[in-house]
Amino acid sequence: MSGINTLAAFKSFTEILPEQNYLLPVLFVGHGSPMNGIEDNEFSKRWSTMAKEIPTPKAVLVISAHWFTKGTSITAMEFPITIHDFGGFPEALNQVQYPAPGNPALAKETVNMVHSTQVALNHDWGLDHGTWTIIRHMYPDANIPILQLSIDYTKGPAFHYELAKELYQLRKKGVLIMGSGNMVHNLRMVAWDKLDGPAYGYDWALQMNQTFKDLILNRDHPSLIQYQQLGKEALLAIPTPEHYLPLLYTLGLQGEKEPVVFFNDKPVGGSLTMTSVKIG
Ligand code: ZN
Repeated sequence: MSGINTLAAFKSFTEILPEQNYLLPVLFVGHGSPMNGIEDNEFSKRWSTMAKEIPTPKAVLVISAHWFTKGTSITAMEFPITIHDFGGFPEALNQVQYPAPGNPALAKETVNMVHSTQVALNHDWGLDHGTWTIIRHMYPDANIPILQLSIDYTKGPAFHYELAKELYQLRKKGVLIMGSGNMVHNLRMVAWDKLDGPAYGYDWALQMNQTFKDLILNRDHPSLIQYQQLGKEALLAIPTPEHYLPLLYTLGLQGEKEPVVFFNDKPVGGSLTMTSVKIG
């Protein structure tokens, strides 16, 4: 019997979650390189401490940049597999298993919560690297159910922001909702010689990082939804939308007067930022 089956069989989660007397924060986490999944660096260390600063969730629902689909789906298997959706990395990264359970009942409940679109129950995906590279640092015991919600690539930014609002109830049930992407993410322009060493960002990347933070602090969500109107720097920061849209899920879940805190606010390799957001 493999290690996964042994551990997963330890406890399976199929129950509906009751409402709690507290509200879970919402996160947007910049995931950066898959190597963060096995490195003990400043970013992964902060993921670990963040998990200790917030209530232990009953489940985690991740909207990952790396599950970009036609239509919206939610993982509904009892035991999601660990997906190694990258190439050219050391074998140690390919060997990582994160044997957390899923929660099929919670997946069904989430489907019923969403009315703006038909969310499909998915049994083929699992946990992609946008999820497990972060979560294994946060919850190393892999004993909290983890689900993923896919991003419908046929829909525009406003659709995703509005869909997020329909998930609000999950926060009351002790579910940690986490967008996983990168606000500034232009892989074609990465300065490979600057990946190691001091944090380095191109001028346009630093400018957009500041613009994003200012708009988030001012709660100017309309401008963040219409990011294509934010000038040429925004188009350099977001050449394709999949790493940015998870942020709109996080912002859509912000309550009326909930505070925002930034963490891992740093550029990497010129054209990426790890800047992350905690709401609530
Ligand atoms: Zn990514």
